[in-house]
Amino acid sequence: MTLSTYFMEATYLIASILFVFALKGMSHPETARRGMFLAEGGMLAAIIGTLIGVHILTSAWILAGLTIGSIIGAWMAIFVPMTAMPQRTALSHAFGALAAALVGVGEFAVRGGEMPAITRGALGFEVMLGALTTTGSLIAAGKLQGIIRGKPIQFKGQSIVNLLTFLAMATFFVIYLAHPEDAAVFYTLLALSFVFGVMLVIPIGSADMPVVMSLLNSYAGLAAAATGFVLGNNVLIIAGTLDGFSGFILSVLMCKAMNRSITNVLFGGFGASIAEATSTVDGVMREISMDDAAMQLAFASRVIFVPGYGLATAQAQHAVRELAELLEDRGVSVKYAIHPVAGRMPGHMNVLLAEANVPYSSLYEMEQINPEFPTTDVAVVIGANDVVNPDARDNPKSLIAGMPILEVDRAKSVIVLKRGQGRGFSGLENPLFFKSCTSMLYGDAKSTLTHLAQAVQHV
Ligand code: NAP
Repeated sequence: MTLSTYFMEATYLIASILFVFALKGMSHPETARRGMFLAEGGMLAAIIGTLIGVHILTSAWILAGLTIGSIIGAWMAIFVPMTAMPQRTALSHAFGALAAALVGVGEFAVRGGEMPAITRGALGFEVMLGALTTTGSLIAAGKLQGIIRGKPIQFKGQSIVNLLTFLAMATFFVIYLAHPEDAAVFYTLLALSFVFGVMLVIPIGSADMPVVMSLLNSYAGLAAAATGFVLGNNVLIIAGTLDGFSGFILSVLMCKAMNRSITNVLFGGFGASIAEATSTVDGVMREISMDDAAMQLAFASRVIFVPGYGLATAQAQHAVRELAELLEDRGVSVKYAIHPVAGRMPGHMNVLLAEANVPYSSLYEMEQINPEFPTTDVAVVIGANDVVNPDARDNPKSLIAGMPILEVDRAKSVIVLKRGQGRGFSGLENPLFFKSCTSMLYGDAKSTLTHLAQAVQHV
């Protein structure tokens, strides 16, 4: 081994250690930011090590890739809003998976059939997973952005078509293993994988898209690990495997929080039925004035804020913190209840509230806070809907039956901040809004919270 190869292997070791610590850091909101920095450091170490250790024929392509990638990355970081983070992540998966597939194509073009059987197998997996993740992630991004219809796209005999596409892909994979020099077989495998990615994701509704993306993230990681086997690159094997399995665990956790099984997400056509579902609800929605709401809050002893997707779209995180501080100054105990799938991505509410410097100690997870609602004077629901829908608990026929919820309806009084009669992500009506303990305060969450804070100061 040359000195530069030793250097490269050392940077790979450092990168792998940093990736492990990064994942550990990201498992908790307080240390997540540090985790991201560690991951970035690991990635930088791996890139520098590779550039120094691998004999590069011409640096022009490397520079071109670096420039284009940096421009796209910087653009996404600066201009994509927080609420569009899921589709941004889907695009990142598509790019990563495309890179893995293209490396596979490159290796095939250079080495053809001249590689050991095990490497050939890894190359087949890399190209298959990379290609299907690329198109699957692009469809997911399109659905989340609203460019493609969010409702499941279904047609007669779809399961059969999907099964046949999968079987054709698997067959060409086996033929490729037997005839690794046959370019027609290899490129047919590639094409079928691109098609299968589309077929896999179009029947899934956008309500389930974050889970699908987390699964695709897992596939992209496994494609990268397979690339590592083909290239004999240790850091790719380690990072890809970490990504693959953490993505899978995240998918399982998200499904648990939504009371769904992964098979159900992938084959259930969930979004279709939910989007068209209607439920009949008795009662009327009662509106409350700003002054009455401020009065209730100012004279309460215990208040719980329940943020949801509307807080994110309104960017009301600073406004809620300011109102909470005013209440605390008056001696009111203020807590925040965080549902695991509130918003549009895992940890969405934690990130927003941390950005507004809400102390982490004021944030309570669902299991911790639910027993506290009966002794709470006012629960303030800020742009949350599905995660506080009591039908999930009380109505076994509801399409979200069994999904764990924040039990705000058990509080003495509930004030719901939303713009109008808009439904949540699931498209279902929410009986909470019609209960006698609930009153509605209409308007954009940020401006409502700002006006509430002003009104509280005058109480
Ligand atoms: P939600 O059910 O989507 O409801 C959001 C509510 O916010 C809407 O009813 C809307 O009503 C209101 N709203 C929107 N913009 C607003 C604004 N500017 N000001 C005030 N209110 C506003 O949100 P959620 O309760 O947070 O539930 C999250 C949903 O996403 C769940 O169904 C969950 O399963 C799904 N999901 C989340 C994840 C995740 O990882 N977090 C993953 C997969 C799926 P108006 O239009 O009337 O204002």
